[in-house]
Amino acid sequence: MNDAARPDTDPAQGCPSPPMPIGSLPRRRTRGAQVSWGSRSVRIGGGGEVVVQSMTNTDTADAIATAIQIRQLAAAGSELVRITVNSPEAAAAVAPIREQLDRMGVDVPLVGDFHYNGHKLLTQYPDCARALSKYRINPGNVGSGSRRDDNFAQMIEVACRFEKPVRIGVNWGSLDQALLARLMDVNAARAQPWEASAVMREALVTSAIESAQRAEQIGLPGDRIILSAKVSAVQDLIAVYRELARRCDYPLHLGLTEAGMGSKGIVASTAALAVLLQEGIGDTIRVSLTPEPNGDRSREVVVAQEILQTMGLRAFTPMVVACPGCGRTSSTFFQELADRIQRYLREQMPVWRGRYPGVETLQVAVMGCVVNGPGESKHADIGISLPGSGEAPVAPVFIDGVRDVTLKGDRIAEDFQAIVENYVRRRYSLEKAGT
Ligand code: SF4
Repeated sequence: MNDAARPDTDPAQGCPSPPMPIGSLPRRRTRGAQVSWGSRSVRIGGGGEVVVQSMTNTDTADAIATAIQIRQLAAAGSELVRITVNSPEAAAAVAPIREQLDRMGVDVPLVGDFHYNGHKLLTQYPDCARALSKYRINPGNVGSGSRRDDNFAQMIEVACRFEKPVRIGVNWGSLDQALLARLMDVNAARAQPWEASAVMREALVTSAIESAQRAEQIGLPGDRIILSAKVSAVQDLIAVYRELARRCDYPLHLGLTEAGMGSKGIVASTAALAVLLQEGIGDTIRVSLTPEPNGDRSREVVVAQEILQTMGLRAFTPMVVACPGCGRTSSTFFQELADRIQRYLREQMPVWRGRYPGVETLQVAVMGCVVNGPGESKHADIGISLPGSGEAPVAPVFIDGVRDVTLKGDRIAEDFQAIVENYVRRRYSLEKAGT
């Protein structure tokens, strides 16, 4: 491979070029949709940053439990939170949930998820329609026959009346069967028919785009439409979104549906989303993790942020670089320290975000021995290299690439945390003051 073909090498220097600045990856050009509540406004597409969103799993009719979970998701960094609105009780609870959030000072915009009876709920509960900042409508779940068009139109008319944006979200599991049958007939007439899976993908894309066009004909402005077409297989998702991106300029909501639990859900979502985001496709993301029993729902927010941050698209929280450990590691102390520092940094962010602008780009290294420890520590803003087996029981700390102090004794963890805190106060307060 010649130098010109090495994207990460600076031929003039013969060494790796610096990392791309955050947010510099080219993005697909889309219309922008504004999702607002009060003074809070989140832009999806139109050159805005990729927005992180999440969804509650409480019964929306339980307004208190739902408001508490929304607050947790928002505190974790979710910029939009979706709630299901599936019954008259749920619709009646939406305005009280919004009021409760406002009382708690949580201004995150709410998205209402509608299926089957959305036309009735949105028309019969205007307070619900007003309190939501965006509606999600699944054109495959709005009824059948002539009722389907009427029901869809009723929901779009409510969105027009209340000036709300709409995500037209089609889903592999609830595909418009009439449309699929039509495309199957077209396929059967081809000289060389497509595979059934290709027809299914085409049906998803067509359903999303035709529904958006129908919404515009009814009167919804094109800059209030976001599209999604979710499937549960990584390669299908990539193929569907590439095609959607090629055929329209609506902003796209990315997400692998039914991603699964634990590492499988995280890996599958990351694999699919990373390919698309790298190609500039995707304006808002949701990671649909199945939580462990009694697990933390906000995990999906953290994973979504980490996908965007590790790809260099956005920065949310200072990142800890840690080695995996090996036979040279003298104890689990360095793992505990890495975990402690990462949790500490994340916990500080609700306060630090406002107090120390830019702190989210901080890099901290926690390394297990001298093999890579000092080198990795020098590349971070702050790094510590703990003693491996057979090494002197001391831990050199590097600040801005320079060895600053050597820690020893029983309080290495506490001392290192204090060094990180002082560094943040000194560096980011100064940056705030413009020095
Ligand atoms: S830095 Fe040291 S402890 Fe960590 S993986 Fe490398 S050799 Fe092992």
